[in-house]
Amino acid sequence: MVLQQFDDSWGRFSSPLFKTYTLTNFRDILQIKKLSQEKQFEIEVVGNVLPFKTNNYVVEQLIDWKNVPNDPIFALNFPQRDMLKPKHYRKMENALKKGLEKKEIQRIANEIRLQLNPHPAGQMEHNVPQLRDGTKLYGMQHKYKETVLFFPSQGQTCHAYCSFCFRWPQFVGMEDLKFAMRETSSLIQYLKEHPEITDILFTGGDPMIMKAKLLSRYIDSILDADLPNLQTIRIGSKALAYWPYKFTSDDDSQETLDLFNRVTRRGIHLSFMAHFNHPVELSTDAVKAAIRAVRGTGAQIRTQSPVLKHINDDPNLWAEMWKKQVSLGLIPYYMFVVRDTGAQHYFGVPLIRAQEIFRDAYQQVGGLCRTVRGPSMSSTPGKIQVLGVTNVGKLKAIVMRFLQGRDPKWVQIPFLAKYDKKAIWIDDLKPFSDKKFFFEDGLEKILSKDMKSSGSDDSTVHGGPP
Ligand SMILES: *Cc1c(COP(=O)(O)O)cnc(C)c1O
Ligand code: SF4
Repeated sequence: MVLQQFDDSWGRFSSPLFKTYTLTNFRDILQIKKLSQEKQFEIEVVGNVLPFKTNNYVVEQLIDWKNVPNDPIFALNFPQRDMLKPKHYRKMENALKKGLEKKEIQRIANEIRLQLNPHPAGQMEHNVPQLRDGTKLYGMQHKYKETVLFFPSQGQTCHAYCSFCFRWPQFVGMEDLKFAMRETSSLIQYLKEHPEITDILFTGGDPMIMKAKLLSRYIDSILDADLPNLQTIRIGSKALAYWPYKFTSDDDSQETLDLFNRVTRRGIHLSFMAHFNHPVELSTDAVKAAIRAVRGTGAQIRTQSPVLKHINDDPNLWAEMWKKQVSLGLIPYYMFVVRDTGAQHYFGVPLIRAQEIFRDAYQQVGGLCRTVRGPSMSSTPGKIQVLGVTNVGKLKAIVMRFLQGRDPKWVQIPFLAKYDKKAIWIDDLKPFSDKKFFFEDGLEKILSKDMKSSGSDDSTVHGGPP
């Protein structure tokens, strides 16, 4: 189906209307009707536990339906049977087959969700930054010295949901937008109290879900505040991959680009942290035009993604993705490891394997792709990169380092763990020779101080994991 007419002289599309599909209407999708009843029911079972939303662009232009159910973009948006453990699957399957009331199904769903580690790395309570007057800022996180995360309250949803996303509790209504903030005045006050902060990172959900008018209320008030130390505004977003029309032909696309322009003309760097999981997301005319439009405002686009089984656990795919990105003018930035939550057992790649994928991809590409760093875990102490495996005497060890640390002094210092082929997260690893990792005592101190006052955990999604 032809969705848009591309006219290169104008670089404009006639925008398709944004249409979302969720549990209530996914059976309207023509291609879904062709799947067996059984497959459709599987989507319903899992979709009652994990978040599920896709849209017409993803369905019509990204998913290769000949390849379903193995298609990577299908797995990225559509719930799959194996995303739940068998006992959880059976529980929801039975509830639906019995035709239980909605409320009862909801209760069972929450029961299952609570067993999926909905708040990894203590992100709920470790904790919220505060103003000097003691006001707690729930819509913000300040973990690394230079960068503060900001969660605008109207940006807490996305154009589609990634089935691996660790923000899933908020999409299924478990978290009541706990992280969201309605206005910027407290953010600005906080920045004035913390001159060490150079970067504001808008995150979510997806801040680009907001209409230009709304987004500009946040961004323009930051510009108007004339903060002397502010260098960069970052926006973490998957909109280029999920709804590129936001930047080309939606009714507020020009207004969005004008806003980006205002940032860069102020001499503030706008870094668009784009989340791409697969090269196909970079292949449509729509995304290429959107990239041109965003870059035309003077913004830079940096890219990040987790490495995911069933979606991109293949070095050649990563090499292709980075090369495509560089040829489109994007800057590869992070490869993440998925965290220990939700469907981790489905998507998770062991650390050692993730590092092999990174290495084998990195060896195939030129220097301009090698701005990428990874694989990295966004864990409680910081962003930890797995550098590889080495021999110490007769023993194998895993070499790591911090790319970001709660204590900046931890950054860039290599440290060793016992070799462990199955480990998927820093918590699974044991120090190579000492009893503790070198950062553990320091971390404990920081965390106990945090409990009393401020600080925060974790983390960016779009690629932060997300
Ligand atoms: C990743 C991340 C940042 C940004 O780190 P950079 O290395 O500067 O990209 C900031 N805060 C949190 C909590 C993060 O997870
Ligand atoms: S990874 Fe980003 S785009 Fe995907 S569901 Fe999570 S917040 Fe939304």
